[in-house]
Amino acid sequence: PPADPYRGRFAPSPTGPLHFGSLVAAVGSYLYTRQAGGEWLLRIEDLDTPREVPGSADLIIRTLDAFGFEWTGSILRQSSRREAYEAATQQLLNNGQAFVCSCSRSELQAAQSTAKGLFDTDELRYPGWCRSGPRAPERKTAVRLFVPLGETAVTDLLQGRFTVDVSAEVGDFVIRRRDGIHAYQLAVVVDDAFQGISAVVRGADLLHSTPRQVILQRMLNLPTPVYAHLPVATDVNGIKLSKSAGAAAIDITRPTYELWRALEFLQQAPPPELRRAGLATLWEWSIKHWQPQRLNGLRQAAIRAGREDGLT
Ligand code: GLU
Repeated sequence: PPADPYRGRFAPSPTGPLHFGSLVAAVGSYLYTRQAGGEWLLRIEDLDTPREVPGSADLIIRTLDAFGFEWTGSILRQSSRREAYEAATQQLLNNGQAFVCSCSRSELQAAQSTAKGLFDTDELRYPGWCRSGPRAPERKTAVRLFVPLGETAVTDLLQGRFTVDVSAEVGDFVIRRRDGIHAYQLAVVVDDAFQGISAVVRGADLLHSTPRQVILQRMLNLPTPVYAHLPVATDVNGIKLSKSAGAAAIDITRPTYELWRALEFLQQAPPPELRRAGLATLWEWSIKHWQPQRLNGLRQAAIRAGREDGLT
């Protein structure tokens, strides 16, 4: 067990029902936590209200409940945490660690259109135009972090040591968007610290974001949790399962079968006969036999592809 007291979490965005990929993340995080005798917390990342699918937060919670997940304390909703995110934003601005930026998406896109295709626009390096003050202060403005030069390293329990030169690859990233919504990167760091999370276990599609989160933890004087990034479930074409790509919701009426499949995906080799055992029996078996090192052969190269929910 990496940290003491161990506190894990699952932090779904309510952009649709739980699909197999998010179930895998929930199961991996849960098994690490239960095996360590720790607490598992649930957070609904309903920060990006324009992308929220009404009813999906409740559906996700009902699904987790039907699958027998048990969480400690009440569910934290990011929509109730705006003041905390704003306080962190003001702290960074007051300390000269962040700046106000008036660049519009279309201006940035036009300037960066040579860096075509592959990457989400949010992933394109910010050219630094407003570093010495907003060029068009009368407009709606975003807040960006002054990203320090050089590489940031993360030691991941499953992926090994991983470094990103955030200043070179991403540049000064957004912490509060022009529409006033605080960015995922900021919110996740503020909330992981607020909830006392000691270990973040999630899909490897967020590996590339992790150095950004570590930079923010350092600037806000918050602890860095232990990280473990699980392999990401893909469809037959190797495309990451995502809600927006219409990945099938998991079958809430067959939790034992779906949990068994998640365990198989996580290389746990669950005994076939447990597919017909009771849910409690399967959980008991999987907590006892959880061997995350079985995933080590499946290291995932850092995935740069943009997230379906625009998190990156
Ligand atoms: N809310 C994010 C998602 O649904 C996960 C964030 C995290 O685990 O850090 O994918």
